[in-house]
Amino acid sequence: MSKRDYYEVLGVTENASQDEIKKAYRRLSKQYHPDINKEPGAEEKFKEATEAYEVLSDEQKRAQYDQFGHDGPQGFGGGGFGGSDFGGFSGFEDIFSTFFGGGGRRDPNAPRQGADLQYTMTLSFEEAVFGKETTIEIPREETCETCDGSGAKPGTTPETCSHCHGSGQLNVEQNTPFGRIVNRRVCHHCQGTGKLIKEKCRTCGGDGKVTKRKKINVKIPKGVDDGQQMRVSGQGEPGVNGGPPGDLYVVFHVRSHEFFERDGDDIYCEMPITFAQAALGDEIEVPTLHGKVKLKIPAGTQTGTQFRLRGKGVSNVRGYGVGDQHIHVKIITPTKLTDQQKQLLRDFSDIGGDVPDEHHESFFDKVKRAFKGD
Ligand SMILES: [Zn+2]
Ligand SMILES: [Zn+2]
Repeated sequence: MSKRDYYEVLGVTENASQDEIKKAYRRLSKQYHPDINKEPGAEEKFKEATEAYEVLSDEQKRAQYDQFGHDGPQGFGGGGFGGSDFGGFSGFEDIFSTFFGGGGRRDPNAPRQGADLQYTMTLSFEEAVFGKETTIEIPREETCETCDGSGAKPGTTPETCSHCHGSGQLNVEQNTPFGRIVNRRVCHHCQGTGKLIKEKCRTCGGDGKVTKRKKINVKIPKGVDDGQQMRVSGQGEPGVNGGPPGDLYVVFHVRSHEFFERDGDDIYCEMPITFAQAALGDEIEVPTLHGKVKLKIPAGTQTGTQFRLRGKGVSNVRGYGVGDQHIHVKIITPTKLTDQQKQLLRDFSDIGGDVPDEHHESFFDKVKRAFKGD
């Protein structure tokens, strides 16, 4: 479906002033606004007018439109000027909620859920792997026990605010490009609560809430990882007007380990072995999170070879099994050799001990070819 010309949509000439464009849009939006016009097609007409107004009321967009039409130069084509995006029109909500009396109204006496809280907990590598039970102390607002949250001195009750008659909102007249309109604002006499307290509760000073350091017992499951969070239900801030409390989110920061590295449920580490151990084979002891484990190094092991210890990783935090530990062996070349050791290595070399076996011949062939450059 081809788009209608924006000037045609608003019913103005191409030379229309901004004032004429505003007036035309105001008239059309009142006629077709979906809150007041339920006829089929009204909403489309309203969107069309809004899109046209958004472009023509902006001198820069209007100039582009005059020059290029709907298929503007900067990817405006196809979707046009993005006029279907209602939220993009700044000030839209404000203007229309006052024109048509919709939206923005909230009963200050309705129950509301308390705010969620976030707590960052630093764990050692092992604590994250094995979990732990701990007590944390968080400052949070609690309902004042003296006044039971009303904010009024015991024996008295808060009165309905006489300025806003309990609605928590006041009507404020304002001049806008659309003319003089009435806007709703939070009542500053009662801060939007709809109530006035004559005699304030001394404990909380009329807030109905007090800040306390609350101790909460937290059970951290096995296998949590850096950046993960855990929800502790109902331990956030208290609700308002009898609403439910919010939740507490504990976010984990896990410290790194000097020997182990973790990737999900798997553990990685590097084990140094000597040339003799690698060549002759050996049995070595490897540290794991679950204690020492013996690992057989087969004769002829190359540096970088990876061994796996099944089930020596981390228990999955959701209960899906246990990860493995992967061991990278790294052959350490000796740097401080005695004269005797040097002589033995020379002898070893002389009798052809450092010639690679068949298994690695292809690798050395590749190296040779690389030197020749073919
Ligand atoms: Zn109180
Ligand atoms: Zn008020």
